[in-house]
Amino acid sequence: MGSVKSAGQLPSSTFPDQEFVGDDPVMDMLNTVARPVDELVDFWQSDGDVVRWMARAGWIDGDAARHLRPGKLLEAARQLRETGRRLVMQRKNGKRLDLTELNDFLSQGRSYCELTQPKIGHPVVVRRYESKTAEQWLAPLAEAAAEFLATADFDLVRGCEGDGCVLWFYDRTKSHRRRWCSMRVCGNRHKVASYRSRNSDL
Ligand SMILES: [Zn+2]
Repeated sequence: MGSVKSAGQLPSSTFPDQEFVGDDPVMDMLNTVARPVDELVDFWQSDGDVVRWMARAGWIDGDAARHLRPGKLLEAARQLRETGRRLVMQRKNGKRLDLTELNDFLSQGRSYCELTQPKIGHPVVVRRYESKTAEQWLAPLAEAAAEFLATADFDLVRGCEGDGCVLWFYDRTKSHRRRWCSMRVCGNRHKVASYRSRNSDL
């Protein structure tokens, strides 16, 4: 992955926007490695980073990860991310998928359905995940990756066209013409660059 800086070395303003522009949790997972300035940065530098990310993605109760051996969660999350990245690229390029690693990961998940009764309204079915191991704790994300690879329209899976930008997104716009991770960052950079080149032609 080349030289990757720790997220702590960055100005914090670059962090949140870069992180959740993918419009899909699997794209957002890939985007935890980004190039906010010059170098690639891995925003997952600790177990805590992974817990915060999973919570922000709306999945998991961080307390459930407390008993895991330190470093284990980070290691498993990075493994899942890079396996996911390889598979997304294979799928994007119309190649056959090398599924062993993801299926190994998935086979470690343990979950069951629970019928719960809210104070108001109908009972709802929720899926509960065991979290004895890091792989079990990350199972919802691994399952989302599998689901994405099986059902996503890969014409809408695109990399940002920004110069040197490595971010991915799932284009859910009506026109399906999304080109940038965000208008504010790469879209705007492009606008400024094409304005400059137009004016220098005059
Ligand atoms: Zn971009």
